[in-house]
Amino acid sequence: MRIQISDLNKKIGCEVEIFGWVNTRRDMGNISFIDLRDITANIQVVLISKEMDEQSAEAIKKLRPEYVLKVVGEIKKRQEKQINIKVFNGEIEIVAKKVEILNESKTLPFDISTDGYEIKEEVRMKYRYLDLRRSRAKKNLILRHKLIKFIRDFMDEKGFMEIETPLFTKTTPEGARDYIVPSRLHPGKFYALPQSPQQYKELLMIAGMEKYFQIARAIRDEDPRADRQPEHTQWDFEMSFVERDDVMNILEEGIIKLTKYLEPMTEKKLLVEPLPRLTYRETMAKYGTDKPDIRSGPKDPNVLAFAWIIDFPLVEWKKEENRWDPVHHMFVMPKPGYKNLLDTDPGKIISTQFDLVCNGYEICSGSIRINQRQLQEKIMGLIGLNLEKARQQFGHLLEALEFGAPPHGGAAPGIDRLAMLYAGESNIREVIAFSKTGDGRDLMMDAPSEVDEKQLKELNIKIARE
Ligand code: ASP
Repeated sequence: MRIQISDLNKKIGCEVEIFGWVNTRRDMGNISFIDLRDITANIQVVLISKEMDEQSAEAIKKLRPEYVLKVVGEIKKRQEKQINIKVFNGEIEIVAKKVEILNESKTLPFDISTDGYEIKEEVRMKYRYLDLRRSRAKKNLILRHKLIKFIRDFMDEKGFMEIETPLFTKTTPEGARDYIVPSRLHPGKFYALPQSPQQYKELLMIAGMEKYFQIARAIRDEDPRADRQPEHTQWDFEMSFVERDDVMNILEEGIIKLTKYLEPMTEKKLLVEPLPRLTYRETMAKYGTDKPDIRSGPKDPNVLAFAWIIDFPLVEWKKEENRWDPVHHMFVMPKPGYKNLLDTDPGKIISTQFDLVCNGYEICSGSIRINQRQLQEKIMGLIGLNLEKARQQFGHLLEALEFGAPPHGGAAPGIDRLAMLYAGESNIREVIAFSKTGDGRDLMMDAPSEVDEKQLKELNIKIARE
């Protein structure tokens, strides 16, 4: 039975069977050493051909880096002068009895023994499945897994239920363009991929689910930018019968506990807790941005300066389009006492929006939502949707608001951003298993790509060619 390499230090004196990739090989006359690697760790394998069967002795002549092996042998303590206390498993080795080559490997297109920053990123992305063999990349994915696992456990403990919402839907706007998918069965009609589960989670509150969360994909067609991905992952949640501070408090507790839970892996600490709360006005006055880095003096990369920004305006004037635009999205509830300004001075309305920021990055926005049809229609009108169009596009939600919609609110922290900060990376691509370039290309799969005529025809699509 296979044993993983990180468990071998409990097996001194035992015969074991291990599997993995050849990391490196050193020959010293009659004796060779390889470093064998699996997901958990590395181990030194001692190869002495005269102590092995004929087949194994033949096999070891051919061994090269990245060959896939099965090794059977005995775990031994290394001799005194061979001990290397600086590395995991540096005090033990496996003396091979049998070596079987399960697969060969061509020479890799790049070195995977380094952290990889020196290699052109496009090459790493094209061969991401090889890039992921390097320990930095592996560590990042393990960290991301732990982070998501923590969120799931934390939310479950707090009584939230994970509910999946559809990917094939109708526009759920978050201020970007929609990606759309043509329907074969309904010619001329299209699904939109969700820019977030916003409407579904509000509908789940109307459905009486009270506490929802989801590790959700948000898909947005935005203009290219180096650190932008067409799809990103959110810690999306929504809760009923709450006020703004209740939503913030849950998230704050989660962030503080998450940071402490990950600390043994990340060495990252919070600057202060409880997290400071700054108003939008004072933040703009002091930092000139609504995503401030509140660390003072030299920026310690191991300090995470989470902070809240509150009291945002509800809408801002969009000059080019001659209309008001939501500062977050159109479902945000004004702060109590401000609704009467809707007809007179909308620009002065303060909303229930809150942002969580960290080290100069926006982690999320959240808010209490509108739960009355009349008010929702009014805001839709304010931002320039005509009533007929609003009812056509959002009729389901407007109607639902008339069936006992509870007061509710939520937020959706970006998981890629969080993982990036905890991993100490400066780009979200480093914490995504298979990411895309800033202009939305998957270099490994070569997507987007053309489709054949037959498929287009089935979809009733004609490409207008120049
Ligand atoms: N749907 C929002 C977003 O994606 C988050 C929220 O308001 O819960 O930014």
